[in-house]
Amino acid sequence: MSSNVTEADEIVRRCEALYADLSLSAVKSWQASHPGRPAIGLLPIYVPRELVHASGALPVSILGGGDQIDIVKGDACFQSYICHLPRSTVELGLQGRLEALDGFVFPSTCDVIRNLSGIWQLLFPGKYVRYLDLPQAMDPSTGGEFYRRDLEALGAELGRLPGGNAPTTESLATSVRLYEENRRALATLRQLRAEAPWLVPLDESYLVVRAGAVLDVEEHTELVRAYAAAATRRRRKAEDRIRVVIAGAFCEQPPLGLLRTIERSGCYVVDDDLFLGARWIQPTEAEDRGDPLTSLALAYLNRSVVASTRYQPDGLRGEDLVRQVREKRADGVIFAAPSFCDPALLDQPPLQKALGEASIPFITFKYAENTGQFQAIREQAGTFSDSIKLWGEG
Ligand code: SF4
Repeated sequence: MSSNVTEADEIVRRCEALYADLSLSAVKSWQASHPGRPAIGLLPIYVPRELVHASGALPVSILGGGDQIDIVKGDACFQSYICHLPRSTVELGLQGRLEALDGFVFPSTCDVIRNLSGIWQLLFPGKYVRYLDLPQAMDPSTGGEFYRRDLEALGAELGRLPGGNAPTTESLATSVRLYEENRRALATLRQLRAEAPWLVPLDESYLVVRAGAVLDVEEHTELVRAYAAAATRRRRKAEDRIRVVIAGAFCEQPPLGLLRTIERSGCYVVDDDLFLGARWIQPTEAEDRGDPLTSLALAYLNRSVVASTRYQPDGLRGEDLVRQVREKRADGVIFAAPSFCDPALLDQPPLQKALGEASIPFITFKYAENTGQFQAIREQAGTFSDSIKLWGEG
C-alpha cells in the first residue's frame, strides 16, 4: 500500500469516527478549545451556517441517529406514517446526546421539521429553539427582503445567547468567505468523483463531506482538500460498472451500508444529493463586496441548488436532473428516497417523466436511515447495472 493510499484511508477513518460519534465529541472538543462559545444544532436541509459562524458559534448539522440508535421514546412523539429522522433526533435529545448544543434552528424544510420544532420546545424548554422560514417567493424585493430581515433577527438572537456575539458586517463577511471556500473544495471533490469515481468511492466521499456536520469550517475545508489530493494520487483502475446519479436522499440519510451496497452492485455513483445542505448554495468565483447579509439572502434566491423543498417553476426540476445526468455522463438514475418523505416522493413522477422523455433509465427504492437489510437493493441495483451493460437500458 502506497503512502498516498494510507493518507486517504487515514482521513476516511477519521471521518467515519466522526460519523459514528452520536455524542458529538468533536463538538465538545471545539467547545473545550473555545471556552464559553455556543454550539448551535441545525436541522436539515439548509440553514445559512455563515450566520451562525459569524455569531461566534459552531454550526452543527443534525442528521438523525442513522442505524446506530434504538428508538425507545422517539416513536411516542410521532405518527407511524412519517419519515424516521424526527424519531431518532428526539431519541438523541432524550438520551442527552445533544446536550452539548446550546440551541437549535429548524428550517422550513417540510411539515415534519416544522412540527419537530414545536415538539422540541415542549421537550427541551431550556434550550434556544428557532424556526427559520425560508422564502418561497424568489423576488428580491419580497422574498429577499423578508428573508434578510429574518436572518437579521436570527443573528441578533444568536448574539444574545451566552457567549454569542451579534454578527457584524466584518464577521459575516469573513464567514461568507470561509464557507465559499468550503463549497469550492466540495465542488472540486464532486467533480473529481464524476471524472474518476474509482478513485473516490461514494462511501468515502460521503464521509468526508459529512465530517463538515461537526467540524469547524476551516478545518473541514482543509480535510476535503487533503482527501481530494490524496485520492487523486491513488493508483486504481476503472472497473466495468455503470455510472449512476442518486436522487432523493437530500434529507434523511441512508445508512452507510446501503451506499456501499449500491457501489458493490456494479455501479459508480458519479453524483448524488446526499447531505444536500452542505452544498445548497452553489459556489461562485465572483467576489461580492456588498452587504454580506444581503448577499446571504440573495444567495438563497439566486444560487440555491434545485431542490424538492424549494419552489421552482414547473418542469425545472426535471430539466435539471436530465442536465445533471448528461453533464456527469451517467447511464441512469437511482431514486433513493426515505420512506414517507413527501418532498422526495411527490417529486418523483415529474422527474421520472422527464427521464423517460430523455430515454434515461432509472430504478426506485425507499429506505429508512436504519434500514438493515440490503439484499433486495443489491439485487435491484445489480440487475439495473447488468441490464444497462447488456442492452443499454434499465
Ligand atoms: S426526510 Fe423528507 S419528510 Fe422527513 S424531514 Fe426530511 S424532507 Fe421532511
